[in-house]
Amino acid sequence: MTDANECWIYTGTITSQGYGQIGVEGKVRQAYKVAYELFIGEVPPGLELDHLCHTRDLKCISNSDCRHRRCVNPWHLEPVTQRENTRRSNNPSAVNARKTHCIHGHEFSPENTYVKPNGQRQCRQCGRDASARYFASTGRARDRRARQRKQGDQS
Ligand SMILES: [Zn+2]
Ligand SMILES: [Zn+2]
Ligand SMILES: [Zn+2]
Repeated sequence: MTDANECWIYTGTITSQGYGQIGVEGKVRQAYKVAYELFIGEVPPGLELDHLCHTRDLKCISNSDCRHRRCVNPWHLEPVTQRENTRRSNNPSAVNARKTHCIHGHEFSPENTYVKPNGQRQCRQCGRDASARYFASTGRARDRRARQRKQGDQS
């Protein structure tokens, strides 16, 4: 099975930090980095590899027991700056994943949560509100806007 979407969980030695390690030419190296070089190429200087599968998995916010660290699927790896990598570990989606409500106080229930392709959660109610505002601002819903004005909605 070579499904590019699946995590390739490394079954060799795992470091205390949870990363796979492999001996190459007498040196111990990160297994995922070796896999990346093998399938894709050199990691550009100054960049480090970020596990996209981890970044996208909103439920995975822990570190050393994270199974993604063992993933050596090169298509799950993206070279990023160290700064970006750090930012992602505190990334909005990971932070959001810990929140139970959107900034407007709507609950992130399964029905009310839309997960964007980049893994960020979006409140459906806010989406509806935003599109209602959008249509209200165009001429298409002029009478609805008038109606809202009568109801004294100033927002
Ligand atoms: Zn993966
Ligand atoms: Zn993970
Ligand atoms: Zn909301």
